[in-house]
Amino acid sequence: MTHHEVVIIGSGPAGLTAAIYAARADLAPLVIEGEPSSTSDQPGGQLMLTTDVENYPGFPDGILGPQLMADMRSQAARFGAELVTLKVSRVDFSVNPFAMWIGDPDAPLPTYTADSVIVSTGARSVMLGLEAEQRLIGHGLSTCATCDGFFFRDQEIAVVGGGDSALEEAGFLTKFASKVTLVHRRDALRASKIMQQRAFDNPRIEFAWNTAVVDVVGDTKVEALALRDTVSGEERSLPVSGVFIAIGHRPNTDLFVGQLDMDDAGYLITGSDRSTTNIEGVFACGDVQDHTYRQAITAAGSGCMAAIDAERWLESRTD
Ligand code: NAP
Repeated sequence: MTHHEVVIIGSGPAGLTAAIYAARADLAPLVIEGEPSSTSDQPGGQLMLTTDVENYPGFPDGILGPQLMADMRSQAARFGAELVTLKVSRVDFSVNPFAMWIGDPDAPLPTYTADSVIVSTGARSVMLGLEAEQRLIGHGLSTCATCDGFFFRDQEIAVVGGGDSALEEAGFLTKFASKVTLVHRRDALRASKIMQQRAFDNPRIEFAWNTAVVDVVGDTKVEALALRDTVSGEERSLPVSGVFIAIGHRPNTDLFVGQLDMDDAGYLITGSDRSTTNIEGVFACGDVQDHTYRQAITAAGSGCMAAIDAERWLESRTD
């Protein structure tokens, strides 16, 4: 069992920015960065699943998502952050020092304890569950129109989903794409009426109602969607060079149920303009507490806030 002043759980832009700031404040943070997943052979959050990132300030020619994360990681390590490629299986925030387990969650003693914890476990996009999604993400298949819309200028693309996210993405994408087909599994949208009307009024958006995506076609880049009419069962191909999956997001907060306050969708609740949670000494940053902006730069900004909040809180305890 080892003790740290600050433990950071998660290693996306929020967690690694928190690590850079906490390390430069001489807090020698431990980053429990997670483990490889089915969609990525390295931890590092959603940017590990992207190719070109062109909206992160400081890179006029863009940077590859995995490279940006590798650079943040080495920047944190350079200032003394310790990073371990492990996954937390249980936390106990009921008493300070806070306790975290790796591996067997029923082990009598925790693996790590900490005076303060920064939670930056992120969120994940809900996917359709097709094998092709893992192969083609970052190669024409995306979960973020703000990030990737620019790459589809004058092209025909599709958005999957029928909620506010799908319609917002579809509308945004018509700034670039020549045509956006909204593929929805039912004959009625879930989105708010105002968003629906905006989409119906947009001449560049077409609707494929009662339509399920059976497959995303293409070996190295998206070439078409294989679609099935859910009423007639008829199958057809929709040639597109891009597809945006917009069927919802899930914050990675299962570990904290019953300990940290969450909203109905499971996002952690933080203080207004702060990273504080309902437990003193536990802070949260990045997409795990942000269902509005969900950008690498906003995650990084909130990671900076969390490190400063943690540093000030630790200092206040020694006053
Ligand atoms: P959502 O409201 O849960 O909508 C998800 C959509 O994806 C639904 O239309 C659903 O179809 C479809 N879907 C789910 N699983 C699917 C699957 N396996 N295959 C095909 N389709 C599937 O999620 P959201 O659009 O991300 O919105 C989340 C919340 O954020 C909502 O409260 C929303 O109002 C809010 N939001 C607001 C704005 C805004 O106001 N500007 C923008 C974005 C999000 P069904 O309809 O058939 O269930």
